[in-house]
Amino acid sequence: MATEAVDILIAGGGPVGAALALALEGSGQRVLLAEARSAATFGTRSAATFDAPAAAAARDARAIALSYASRLLLERLHAWSALPVTPIATIHVSQQGGFGRTLINAADCGVPALGYVANYDDLQRSLLTAPCTAERLFGASVIKFNGSEAVLQTQQGERVLAPRLTVLADGARVADEQAAPAYSKDYGQTALVAWVRTEQAHLGRAWERFTPAGPLALLPHGAGYALVWTSSPQRSAQLAALDTTSFLAELHTAFGDRLGAFIEAGERSAFPLALRYRRAESRPRSLAVGNAAQTLHPVAGQGFNLGLRDAWELARLAQDAPDPGSEAFVAAYRRARALDRRAGIRFTDGLVSLFSNSRALLTLGRGAGLLALDLLPFARRFVARRMIYGARALP
Ligand SMILES: Cc1cc2nc3c(=O)[nH]c(=O)nc-3n(C[C@H](O)[C@H](O)[C@H](O)COP(=O)(O)OP(=O)(O)OC[C@H]3O[C@@H](n4cnc5c(N)ncnc54)[C@H](O)[C@@H]3O)c2cc1C
Repeated sequence: MATEAVDILIAGGGPVGAALALALEGSGQRVLLAEARSAATFGTRSAATFDAPAAAAARDARAIALSYASRLLLERLHAWSALPVTPIATIHVSQQGGFGRTLINAADCGVPALGYVANYDDLQRSLLTAPCTAERLFGASVIKFNGSEAVLQTQQGERVLAPRLTVLADGARVADEQAAPAYSKDYGQTALVAWVRTEQAHLGRAWERFTPAGPLALLPHGAGYALVWTSSPQRSAQLAALDTTSFLAELHTAFGDRLGAFIEAGERSAFPLALRYRRAESRPRSLAVGNAAQTLHPVAGQGFNLGLRDAWELARLAQDAPDPGSEAFVAAYRRARALDRRAGIRFTDGLVSLFSNSRALLTLGRGAGLLALDLLPFARRFVARRMIYGARALP
C-alpha cells in the first residue's frame, strides 16, 4: 500500500481538532483531519428548533459555555455567525449550607457578555462546516500510529500516511493506546446534564452552586437552562432513572426556590468525571491538544476554552514552519502552552477540592471568600478575566 505524505495529521474532529484545521488555513502546511464519526451523524438542526426540549436531546447533550475570548477566536475562524448561542450577562456563585455569595457581571469586566452557551453538537458542526481547504475525512479512524506513520480506517479501506506531525485531538486518546501513562485522578463524581426550564425566565443569569457532593450549574440556554448537576455516581444513577416529575422535584429541592419551580426537562446524560493529563508525549513527531492533552472537571467551564487556545497557539507556531514535527517545534509548542495549561488544571482541580466537602471551618472560609469577592470589585474582575482569557492574560 502506498504511503501518502502529509504535513499535519489531526486525529479527531471534535471541537478542538476542527478548530485547529481552520486555524491552520494559510499556514503553508498540508493538513488532513480524520474524524471517526460519519458526516451523517452530525445532522442539521436549525436555530428555530433550538428552544424545544426535544431538540435539546442532541447526540451529545452537553452544553458548552464559551468564554468571550473564545468568541473572538471563533469569529476569526468564521465559525461564530451561524452558531446558536445564549449570552451570559451575570454569574451567581454560592454554596449550599453556608453564607456568602457573589455576583459577577459582564459590565464589571468590560465585555458585552461573560460567555455564551452553545450545544456541543452545534459547536462541532459549525467548526466542521466552516470553509476550509484542509482535507476533512469523516468515518475515518486513526487505528495505528507510531510517530512517523499512521493508519486510517476509512469507509473505502485503509490509508497509510507519513505525517510530519500527528496532532492527537481524539479526546480520550484511543488513537495512541501505547501512550505513556497519564496522570489520572478519578473525582468520584458524575455530571448529569439536561436541558431544563424554570417558572421564571433566566434573564441571562448563570448559577453556580457548590454543594458538598459537587457543583450544580444552570447556564442560560435558549428559553431554559443547561443543567450540569454533579454528584456521586450512585446519586447520579438514581437521578437519571427518575421519571421527569420526580427529577424536577429533586432538582427544585437541591437548587432552592430562586427560580420558582422546574417545569420541563429534556433527555438526561451522564459523564463520569476525572482529571487526566500527560507531562510528556511518548512518541516523536506528535503532540496533543484539547482533551487529549488535558481532561478537566467541567466546573467553571474551562475545557474547550483551554483546548481552543491550544489549537490557536499551535497554528501560530506552524505558520510557515519548515518542519512542524521536529523536536524543536514540539518543544516550542509545549513551552508556549505550559503556563495556561497548568493554570487551567490547578484552577479547576483546586475549586473541586475546596468546595467538595462540608467541614465547618472550610464552609466558613469559603463563605468569607465569596463575601470578599462580592465586596471587592478588583478581585471579582481578576477571577472573571482569568476565566475569560486564561492564564496568559494575567498581569
Ligand atoms: C458535562 C461536561 C460539561 C462541559 N462543559 C464545558 C463548558 O461549559 N465549557 C468548556 O469550555 N468545556 C466544557 N466541557 C469540556 C469540553 O466538553 C471538552 O473540553 C471538549 O469537548 C474537548 O474537545 P476535544 O475536541 O478535545 O475532544 P472531544 O470533544 O472528546 O472530541 C474528540 C473527537 O475525536 C474523535 N475521535 C476519537 N477517536 C478517534 C480516532 N481514533 N480517530 C479519529 N477520530 C477520533 C471523536 O469522534 C470526537 O469527535 C465540559 C465537559 C463535560 C463532560
